[in-house]
Amino acid sequence: ETVISKNFIEQIIDKDLEEGKYTKIVTRFPPEPNGYLHIGHAKSILLNSGLAKKYNGQFNLRFDDTNPTKEKTEFVESITKDVEWLGADFRGEIFFASNYFDQMYEAAVKLIKKGKAYVCDLSADEIREYRGTLTEPGKNSPYRDRSIEENLALFEAMKNGEFPDGSKVLRAKIDMSSPNINMRDPVIYRIARMTHHNTGDKWCIYPMYDFAHPIEDAIEGVTHSICTLEFEDHRPLYDWVVNELEYEHPPKQIEFAKLYLTNVITGKRYIKKLVEDGIVDGWDDPRLVTIASLRRRGFTPEALKTFMELIGVSKSQASVDYAYLEYVIREDLKTKVPRMMAVLDPIKLVIDNYPEGETEYFDIENNPDDENAGTRKVSFSRELYIEREDFMEEPPKKYFRLFPGNEVRLKGAYFVKCVGFDKDAEGNIVTIHCTYDPETRSGNGFEGRKVKGTIHWVNAADSYEATVRLYENLVDEEKGKLNEDGSINFNPNSLTVINNARLESCLKDAKIAESFQFIRNGYFTVDSKDSKDGEPVFNRIVSLKSSYKP
Ligand code: ATP
Ligand code: MG
Ligand code: MG
Repeated sequence: ETVISKNFIEQIIDKDLEEGKYTKIVTRFPPEPNGYLHIGHAKSILLNSGLAKKYNGQFNLRFDDTNPTKEKTEFVESITKDVEWLGADFRGEIFFASNYFDQMYEAAVKLIKKGKAYVCDLSADEIREYRGTLTEPGKNSPYRDRSIEENLALFEAMKNGEFPDGSKVLRAKIDMSSPNINMRDPVIYRIARMTHHNTGDKWCIYPMYDFAHPIEDAIEGVTHSICTLEFEDHRPLYDWVVNELEYEHPPKQIEFAKLYLTNVITGKRYIKKLVEDGIVDGWDDPRLVTIASLRRRGFTPEALKTFMELIGVSKSQASVDYAYLEYVIREDLKTKVPRMMAVLDPIKLVIDNYPEGETEYFDIENNPDDENAGTRKVSFSRELYIEREDFMEEPPKKYFRLFPGNEVRLKGAYFVKCVGFDKDAEGNIVTIHCTYDPETRSGNGFEGRKVKGTIHWVNAADSYEATVRLYENLVDEEKGKLNEDGSINFNPNSLTVINNARLESCLKDAKIAESFQFIRNGYFTVDSKDSKDGEPVFNRIVSLKSSYKP
């Protein structure tokens, strides 16, 4: 078991608990329902839910649906499914920020009554101009000194739909000369006539993210509001909001670095374009790193969890090697899934001296790394398929597989010796001829002689002819993600479809999301989209070999 030291967030929580700042830890994952989640979100989900679990606290799934334009119910469903699949415990309870619109409105009124917010009639362009720059302080709005009474009346009129969209905003009254531009009287409410998926046409004013988010956290009793680094500069505003609203146990914002992976496409914008251009097969194409893709590809929640623990959380931005993730899934599946024989590039092998019409069965171990996995019966007869690459007419040195005159072990069965081969008119090898030695039957304890190579095989008579798909990264690993013109540098070999793979017969009954090791060929799972009953299609999750050294 890997020992992982406490991350900086756990250290903050420990201290808060010690000082009695909070008694129960509450975290949340607050996605905007505007797209599919990707592996970066998985980090946030597992971090937040993991902390809640570790500290015996509570983890909330909350849809941050305060911006009606981009949000869709479809995404609420896909996100909920992904969070569930990852095993984050949100007790089946879903929170929506839009359910707090009344409280947010009341909070704004409270600020106005404290003289901490005002209605401003400047246009968006004027507000930008007045805001100043990094080097120059801003200027006060001419509407900054409106009376509390006037502000209350105007804000209510805004709510009641008495002004056109964009004609007025409510602004926090903070400090136009603050070195932090976010503190220069930020807009906290705007007028916009938009139909909201939850509240319909009830509201024509909507709160801005920086105002809404701390209120959402405070309402839910969130203690540690964990977000990514781009919000660091917004933290003073977060603190201002919760302090001015005088919450008894104000939540605190903590930032960490986003997860980036090498050689994969994570940007929502890019993924969307790939989907729209038909370059990938939807948001769950197995070559993407959306959570739906990872699930379809055959990654497990356990592996993702381990991966997140191994890479840790920090405040420094860095890309993690995609091969590290592959290493973790390989380790995860090693003891979990059975090992089967599957021939991806089949060539026929005929055992000339084996009785025609006869079938025998071998007991083959399901998983040598799991003593409880048991054995299964695998049929064997005169005609088999082996991998084309396991035979060579003229082998190089140190080639220990089949070639004329050489003997190998057929895994779990017999020794066979190559006695010839047939070619078609074009000179392609189509059949390999062997003889077998009945003495060498697996399990007989034969010690007479040794062979250097073992190859896998399937019985021609009952093997399942399947579609198997192999994947490589979507982008060209050698040359980097983007071309000079900003377009994506695609790997032309990201998808290989094999239509005539030959698999052990029992794989015909494999069910969606069931995974296997195909010995020597990697880990595979049954595709959830293209498989039919009794006709599973297999996706390669990951190959067996890796150049990655953890
Ligand atoms: P958008 O795509 O709308 O710009 P987003 O991808 O950050 O935003 P949100 O729905 O706003 O998506 O994010 C939900 C949560 O996931 C946020 O707390 C955000 O910080 C976190 N998150 C997003 N991307 C990553 C990432 N790459 N690594 C870790 N956490 C992330
Ligand atoms: Mg999002
Ligand atoms: Mg966002």
